Amino acid sequence: CVIFTLVLKEFKILVVGIWCNRAMASHIVGYPRMGPKRELKFALESFWDGKSSADDLQKVAADLRSSIWKQMAEAGTKLIPSNTFSYYDQVLDTTAMLGAVPPRYGWNGGEIGFDVYFSMARGNASVPAMEMTKWFDTNYHYIVPELGPDVKFTYASHKAVNEYKEAKALGVDTIPVLVGPVSYLLLSKPAKGVEKSFSLLSLLDKILPVYKEVVAELKAAGATWIQFDEPKLVMDLSAHELQAFTAAYSDLEGSLSGLNVLIETYFADVPAEAYSTLTSLKGVTGFGFDLVRGSKTLDLIKGGFPSGKYLFAGVVDGRNIWANDLAASINLLQGLEGIVGKDKLVVSTSCSLLHTAVDLANEPKLDKEIKSWLAFAAQKVLEVNALAKSLTGQRDEAYFAANAMAHASRKSSPRVVNQAVQEAAAALKGSDHRRLTNVSARLEAQQKKLNLPILPTTTIGSFPQTMDLRRVRREYKAKKISEDDYVKFIKEEINSVVKIQEELDIDVLVHGEPERNDMVEYFGEQLSGFAFTANGWVQSYGSRCVKPPIIYGDVSRPKAMTVFWSSMAQSMTKRPMKGMLTGPVTILNWSFVRNDQPRFETCYQIALAIKDEVEDLEKAGINVIQIDEAALREGLPLRKSEHAFYLDWAVHSFRITNCGVQDTTQIHTHMCYSNFNDIIRSIIDMDADVITIENSRSDEKLLSVFREGVKYGAGIGPGVYDIHSPRIPSTEEIADRIKKMLAVLESNILWVNPDCGLKTRKYTEVKPALSNMVAAAKTLRTEL
Ligand code: GLN
Ligand code: ZN
Repeated sequence: CVIFTLVLKEFKILVVGIWCNRAMASHIVGYPRMGPKRELKFALESFWDGKSSADDLQKVAADLRSSIWKQMAEAGTKLIPSNTFSYYDQVLDTTAMLGAVPPRYGWNGGEIGFDVYFSMARGNASVPAMEMTKWFDTNYHYIVPELGPDVKFTYASHKAVNEYKEAKALGVDTIPVLVGPVSYLLLSKPAKGVEKSFSLLSLLDKILPVYKEVVAELKAAGATWIQFDEPKLVMDLSAHELQAFTAAYSDLEGSLSGLNVLIETYFADVPAEAYSTLTSLKGVTGFGFDLVRGSKTLDLIKGGFPSGKYLFAGVVDGRNIWANDLAASINLLQGLEGIVGKDKLVVSTSCSLLHTAVDLANEPKLDKEIKSWLAFAAQKVLEVNALAKSLTGQRDEAYFAANAMAHASRKSSPRVVNQAVQEAAAALKGSDHRRLTNVSARLEAQQKKLNLPILPTTTIGSFPQTMDLRRVRREYKAKKISEDDYVKFIKEEINSVVKIQEELDIDVLVHGEPERNDMVEYFGEQLSGFAFTANGWVQSYGSRCVKPPIIYGDVSRPKAMTVFWSSMAQSMTKRPMKGMLTGPVTILNWSFVRNDQPRFETCYQIALAIKDEVEDLEKAGINVIQIDEAALREGLPLRKSEHAFYLDWAVHSFRITNCGVQDTTQIHTHMCYSNFNDIIRSIIDMDADVITIENSRSDEKLLSVFREGVKYGAGIGPGVYDIHSPRIPSTEEIADRIKKMLAVLESNILWVNPDCGLKTRKYTEVKPALSNMVAAAKTLRTEL
């Protein structure tokens, strides 16, 4: 062992340590960029609004990076990542690095600056943004590279090298992180006009020279490690795709020599074939695995791990907010030491910490006991290092004892365990829940009661949320206005929404959801088993963040949640008023979920709570109830082999909520996406009476499902206009859309409604748009 003294000049801290050859190393895959109080968000938005300069933005970013590096260094992290910061997205950063700017952004070469970069990300006055899509099964969204055979790749953004040098100047030697070349290509799409047969992987030879330039510069700057993120390795890949990894890293081998090279995978286990490809890659010295989600990888490692290579064991969960079970992790890590050798095991996170909240230190109001169960990114860095130190005999006994206590309290706490709920949920397993009558008979019974015209019109739920409305809700929450005043205000709001809809002559009304800030939070706040944070933000895309609720305990519904407002709204009109609920799968998928029981168990518990609400609404005289499942598709597992199991319990959960209502009660559901060709069977199996679904925004792709002959017998309302844009659609345009629907769907099942809720629109847009929508429906009724 060598004793070393390192002075981190900028941080004015003195690190004295003992570096043994046999020392256990620690590593973090990546870190949130937004800052503990979303500093980057505010700096970005202010820059975009022209309220601050590029310098101001760069200063905020540099401060964030330096504080993150400092924090990781102080915790003792051996391999601290750099280039995991981004002004928008790491895939877009890679596109910039490769100079793969689509021609429409008018880039003329040279280092890519903010103007071209943010135009690609967000569009500008004359050109729309590049497409954005979900990053694997997370709620993060990346900018999809558009590549064709003619793209000229050139080294056009030195960000990775600059960040490495920046950290080094601060006294921190980092492991620079790049999106790996093969995952980059597999995450891309062919540019417009490029024929479908074009193989993105054929570009490999063209992008590798740029990667080599970057690697050479990093080496010259003093880097000793480099990390390539190749998360595509966890997906279902063809032999041809796997072969691309072998080819890429063989080609890079020469350039990488002299460097330690880590290939990082995450979000699931690595399938057996991919594992053997990965572990045979040339020039690679370390492999990173997600051992939290990737339960099967462990068996592969036990079955054989290349000798002399490093295993980066992702034991600290980057996708959730729970404190690590340190004792269990130590067990696992000790087992791994036996396989790969003490000096070749590196303790790491399961994936980048980008997907968890930033720092528990900013939650002073959170209940103490619940807080002791949690770890956000800052705390996860400490966990990784505590584990690494413990394996070398430097165990922090107090830290481990506190962790063990917290786990014991979480297991037995009465706020977690609710015996009655456990039993009710357990009783559901193995049984099925369906309404007794089939959908056509139900629709008939409902029609007798509701007496709706053909092509009935409705909306999805929310009406515009004005500044005034948001202010009143805030003041009520902060106890600045009384309950009476609040109820009076909301009642007036509902009344005005009802009057507007009656004047527009809409058939099935909504109350407008003025009492809701968010469709999941609203229910979470009224259910037991949920906690809320003040600053638990997670990046969704660009500067946008979400603050998921935390489901920590068995879920139950102490009292009715929506009946008061829905019956008040129904009393204001003779027309049917839709009760409006969020479905169990959506509540689950948009929350941080318990890790001490399977997801489906939590989902069943939520389903039972929503079932109670559905039945209470029915008792209160609400004849139409909409149960939104906006996020059902989002929960699809990454690998096809797991889809059926997920869809089975997700759809079952939905059916549980409404299996107990009478035939005459009409159950609606709503979905915000249309690409459900692959899950259409499951959608039908949900057995809702009516589904309203996004359609206009996605060029009516939805209709192709029915064109291909899928029979749909329940009511269906494919959106007739896109609510994401302020544009007001004309009557003719809407009528045209409806005609296209009538070409593939029977007129007696078709509903007329917008794509989604109207919350983000202005009344000046909503009123004329809905007026045209009703006019279009009325014109077509006369033609049928
Ligand atoms: N009922 C909700 C609304 O209208 C649905 C929102 C959604 O689908 N995302 O706002
Ligand atoms: Zn929607």
